[in-house]
Amino acid sequence: MEMQETVYDVAIIGGGAAGLSAAQALGRSRRAVVVIDAGEPRNAPAAAMHNFLSRDGMNPLELLEVGRAELVKYGVEVIRTRALDSRRSAAGFTITLGNDTEVSARRLILATGLKDQLPDIPGLAKHWGNDVLHCPFCHGWEVKDLRLGVIDSAMAMHQAQLFTQWSKNVTLFKDPNKVLSAQEREQLEALGVRVIEAVVTEVLSEDGFVQGVELSDGTQCEVDALVILPNFDVDVSCVKSLGLVAQEHASGIGRYVPVDDGGQTEISGLWLAGNIVNPMAQVIMAAADGLGVGTRVNADLMQEELAHKLSQLRLCKTAI
Ligand SMILES: Cc1cc2nc3c(=O)[nH]c(=O)nc-3n(C[C@H](O)[C@H](O)[C@H](O)COP(=O)(O)OP(=O)(O)OC[C@H]3O[C@@H](n4cnc5c(N)ncnc54)[C@H](O)[C@@H]3O)c2cc1C
Repeated sequence: MEMQETVYDVAIIGGGAAGLSAAQALGRSRRAVVVIDAGEPRNAPAAAMHNFLSRDGMNPLELLEVGRAELVKYGVEVIRTRALDSRRSAAGFTITLGNDTEVSARRLILATGLKDQLPDIPGLAKHWGNDVLHCPFCHGWEVKDLRLGVIDSAMAMHQAQLFTQWSKNVTLFKDPNKVLSAQEREQLEALGVRVIEAVVTEVLSEDGFVQGVELSDGTQCEVDALVILPNFDVDVSCVKSLGLVAQEHASGIGRYVPVDDGGQTEISGLWLAGNIVNPMAQVIMAAADGLGVGTRVNADLMQEELAHKLSQLRLCKTAI
């Protein structure tokens, strides 16, 4: 006897805050849902998560563990593997998984987050998420009153200004090949930001903590934490056969995938949520986005079912 293929209502690639929230909304709506998750959320290098009301300081991986446990009672399945590609099929979409299986679903939500590409500075990467930071709202409180160094980038002026709210000891390591305008210099002076015209060539550590930086002019500068802007990139290879394309973000921070106001792409049935759409979204925002997309995908399925039932009803009536 031929095995009947399971067709889920919704497959969600990515089980971070966005994907799990979409799964919760859909599971509670009695939809058959599968989440495919490679288990590498963006904030995994950080020991604690902040700015999530009622979960302040929680380990980011623990949040997702609790989320997955909550989904069990709604019958949501979570498959811990990587999605390799997705194609159109009779069901809607069929996704090829890294564990040599496939799943099919009527709708597909991509909540795969983004990748932080760090500048190639020796010693920097091992501190990422602890004392090498990008977001004052995530970690500013944790480095308050410390000696902070801002590494030059497209957002360095903004970061240098913002971090003075947390520390009066902020140094901007300014690339000497880039020019600061008179207005920028005045702004930095007004906020008490020290400017050193040199490139950071190495991050110096002691006992696992940032101790300072080596500079292109041969000098060293002591700092306790560094602020950088990674390049944000998105990986859409798990939907390459569907033709989804990432774009450069207008702000110059990297790539994202634009969607309409509801999270829908131009590819019918494919929806997006979380950092893949909004690189600036924090965890609670990614979760809210996932919830919103989940409810809209549910409504979209409902419309399809209603259309089918209406045509059946009309057929019945004409047959009588
Ligand atoms: C170091 C650091 C610290 C941060 N700290 C905070 C903080 O304190 N507070 C805060 O609010 N925000 C913080 N953020 C931001 C936070 O990480 C994001 O808001 C959040 O992770 C976005 O959720 P998401 O679900 O969109 O993506 P993610 O959390 O990145 O989840 C995406 C998931 O999709 C999976 N995935 C990707 N591709 C595939 C594939 N092909 N197949 C299967 N699975 C796949 C990944 O493995 C991952 O599990 C921090 C970010 C960084 C980098």
